[in-house]
Amino acid sequence: MSLYIEQIRQLVVLQKVDSEIIAIKKRLTEAPKQLESLQRELDAKKDRMEQLNEKVEILNAQNLKLETEIEEDTSSIRKSKNKLMQVENTKEYHAMMREMDSLEKTNRMREEEKISLMEDLQDQQTLHEGIAAEVKEMENVLAQQRASIEAELSKMQRQLKKQEKEKKAACQQIPEPIFKRYDFIRTKLSNPVIVSVSEGICNGCHLKITPQKFIELQKGEQILSCPNCHRLIYWEDHFFTKEENTTKAKDDKKTTPKEKK
Ligand SMILES: [Zn+2]
Repeated sequence: MSLYIEQIRQLVVLQKVDSEIIAIKKRLTEAPKQLESLQRELDAKKDRMEQLNEKVEILNAQNLKLETEIEEDTSSIRKSKNKLMQVENTKEYHAMMREMDSLEKTNRMREEEKISLMEDLQDQQTLHEGIAAEVKEMENVLAQQRASIEAELSKMQRQLKKQEKEKKAACQQIPEPIFKRYDFIRTKLSNPVIVSVSEGICNGCHLKITPQKFIELQKGEQILSCPNCHRLIYWEDHFFTKEENTTKAKDDKKTTPKEKK
């Protein structure tokens, strides 16, 4: 019985280490993805900012063109007004008046165009400022996250090495046939490999094991498997109080025990 207990204990240690290794590896692959998605979001915002920048530039150029045209025509009008005093011929006088009227009319239209253009420019600039602030904020967030994730990842790399060493030590204490059985199940089923049975229920698949199997398990003579999910099982009462029992299946839904039958 005591040899059996010791073997189960070692398997549970191995399971704990394996679970931690799995969690670390998951985090190691997920964390960079988190950064990538933030970076993509930032790039999209930067593109939008660039587009708005181009729009603002175009509007500014249009505005400059309008201002130049208004200025040129205003100076033509001024010149015409001066000339008007010297005109003696009525026909010529009317022609000049008509020309001036037309220039003034065009300039009034330009002024109106300028007003709507300035409104448009104001809108685009407001949008641009808003997105520029968002970009700046996101760049800060990303830099902070990158630093903290990098620190976390290097810490995790160290933990992983430590866990792998611990695993090696745990493996050495487990008799080879038992370890092989554990390792075989590990490749076939989702974590965990070894689970407790409490009140006749397997904590891997949450199904009741047969009363006969349960009696056999309580004897504690040999390492048994759950008839449903095929995980290695042990009777909870042989080892731990409920609080200490940490090997309950967390992601047992991934395995559909009935299919494995
Ligand atoms: Zn089971």
